[in-house]
Order: sequence, then structure tokens, then C-alpha cells
Amino acid sequence: MIKILSFYKIKKTNKLNILKKILLDEIIKNEIKGLLIISKEGINGTLAGKPSNISKISKFIRSTFKFEKFDIENSTSAKCIRCEKASNYLNKKGFKNVYMPKGGVINYFNKTDPNKSKWKGECFVFDNRVTIKKNTQVGNYAICNGCRMPISKKDMKSKKYKVGLSCPKCHDNLSPNQIKRFTMRHHQIVNSKIPFKYKR
Ligand SMILES: [Zn+2]
Repeated sequence: MIKILSFYKIKKTNKLNILKKILLDEIIKNEIKGLLIISKEGINGTLAGKPSNISKISKFIRSTFKFEKFDIENSTSAKCIRCEKASNYLNKKGFKNVYMPKGGVINYFNKTDPNKSKWKGECFVFDNRVTIKKNTQVGNYAICNGCRMPISKKDMKSKKYKVGLSCPKCHDNLSPNQIKRFTMRHHQIVNSKIPFKYKR
């Protein structure tokens, strides 16, 4: 069985390089897969592995980052790090009536008739669907392999959009080394006869 740990914490740190190193060592030791983003503002990740190893890494991250409370979610995110950042920002700017939907945006979509929904546009989700529409169907965006930002159908018509490599936002900023790495990665994915599967 595989267990998934999804979490984030907004907590300032200036010890990025040390934290990166000790986290990576622990992740490799416990054969954990997934994506972990660590920045000066905090940590955000979705990790997968054997249940016993996931609980080890969960304890390790908590103690390393000295979290009293850890925002751990199950498969769907009840709260969103962007909502939290955006609401903090709006509060600081003096907006008085800032609310977050109870149970998160996805819950709002599930419970609201799309014709009566107040939602405009599509909603970014942290999986292969990239975005979903207010009727919870898969949206119209893809992800750019160069900058990991969502790209619209209009972006894909640009000359700066290259499948597996770049989009109009990052095309001019990629280093020769990045171009080489991303091209190689895309080549490997396209030519792989084995479908991507989580391996223990
Ligand atoms: Zn891009």
C-alpha cells in the first residue's frame, strides 16, 4: 500500500540550503517519491511511499521545521496555500470582508450548480488535470515543462511554445543547460514504452 502525504506550512526560514540537504537525505533514505517545494517563505509538498516511511518523514519534517501544527490534507486540498497567501495580502491591504469557502474551492464546486456558481475562470489543481472548470470537468490548460506554469490554448499557438520545453513566459529566459535537460527529459518521456508508474 502507498500512503500520500500532502501538506504545507508558511514559515519563514533563512537556512534553505541546509534544510534542502537534510530533507533530501531523509527522503532518499525512506524511498519517498513526490514533489517538495521549499522556499524562504515555507514548505509545500506531496509525498508518497510506504505508510511506515511516510509517518517517519512526516515526524521528521515536523520536528525539523518545529511545527506545532501541521496542515496535512488528504487526497483533495481543503485549504489552498494560494488562498491563504491571497487572503493575508488582501487583509494587509485593508480589505475587511475576506472569506475562504468552507471546505475549499473544490467542495464549493461539488456543492454548487455551475449555472449559479460565482466562480470565474478555471481552478488550478495540483495534478495532471492542471485545471478544472466549475462543473469539475478537466479544464483547458496544460503545464509548461520549462517554468511549470499553466499555459492556455492561446499560449500554445505562440511560436515560443515548444512541447516539453517552453512557453511564451519562459522561452527567452531558459539557459542552454536547461534547454538541454528539458529536451532530454521530454525525449525520454515520449520514447518510453513503459507507462509511468510508481515503483517501490
Ligand atoms: Zn514556460
